[in-house]
Amino acid sequence: MRGKIDLEGHFAIQDTAGDSERYFDKDAWPKFAEKILGFTNIRLEEMDQYGIEKMILSLNSPAVQAITDKKRAVEVAKRSNDIMADIMQKRPDRFLGFAALPLQDPDAAVLELQRCVKDLGCVGILANSFSQTDENGGYKYYDDPIYRPFWAEVAKLDVPFYLHPREPMPCNIQSIAGHPWLEGAAWAFGVDTATHALRIMCSGILDEHPNLKFILGHLGETLSFCIWRTQNRISKTDRGLPAKRPLTEYMLKNFWYTTSGQNHTSSLLNTMMEFGTDRILFATDFPFETIQDACEWFDNCPINENDRYKIGRQNTIDLFKLGNK
Ligand code: ZN
Repeated sequence: MRGKIDLEGHFAIQDTAGDSERYFDKDAWPKFAEKILGFTNIRLEEMDQYGIEKMILSLNSPAVQAITDKKRAVEVAKRSNDIMADIMQKRPDRFLGFAALPLQDPDAAVLELQRCVKDLGCVGILANSFSQTDENGGYKYYDDPIYRPFWAEVAKLDVPFYLHPREPMPCNIQSIAGHPWLEGAAWAFGVDTATHALRIMCSGILDEHPNLKFILGHLGETLSFCIWRTQNRISKTDRGLPAKRPLTEYMLKNFWYTTSGQNHTSSLLNTMMEFGTDRILFATDFPFETIQDACEWFDNCPINENDRYKIGRQNTIDLFKLGNK
């Protein structure tokens, strides 16, 4: 399919490239670095070859979210957003962008969000899950009450928020200690991000701001399969749950799901059956996954052509109100 829009194409800047380098052998890193630090060579060539018209850019993980010094987190977020805005300006026909925000400091995050949306033209926010702070080695999930003013601003600006994975904190990863093959995208990313999404749903934020729009990668980080059971148990014993509506309702009204890193037809069909075709968006997770693998699978998977067009392009245009952008 030509004209696809890729919702998850990562880049790095010099300050954040090291966060990705740890996942690669020494020999493999230089080639990968060329892909993640560059915009126009390999990235654009592969987009052309496999029918991706536009890519929504986002910073690599965990990047800004893992910088415990708030001042430096603000600086790195601004620098990466400026670099991304420069390429968006040079190639508006090919690149859009998600803002990176220093959520360690909610007030600074609001200011940077306003700058990114109003001045730089960002179409949404991508946060690499929770943010670390320098206060007692702490970390914050975004259901924390300190984020209520931030969510009010996101609702006001009406831009989608992509909750992207990162490695869980060491204190939350004891269940796989000594089993490094389960770290990262293999397993740990999805479990922690699904937990984070559930915390947000349960917090009541979506009752306070019913127009908030969240995006989850990897076809919903397992929630498309698990949410019925979670809701079924909660409805039997809610234990003082603040949320006013069933979690399944939030997932049908406030969440969208990308195909990133899940080039697997039965997982796609499960997500379509659970949440409907209108809420699914094509994404590659470049350069951590290849554009070739994502596109060859998506272009040929056995769904009808109307659904393919919606997932590959139209749903993203509708969600981000891209019109003829
Ligand atoms: Zn990703």
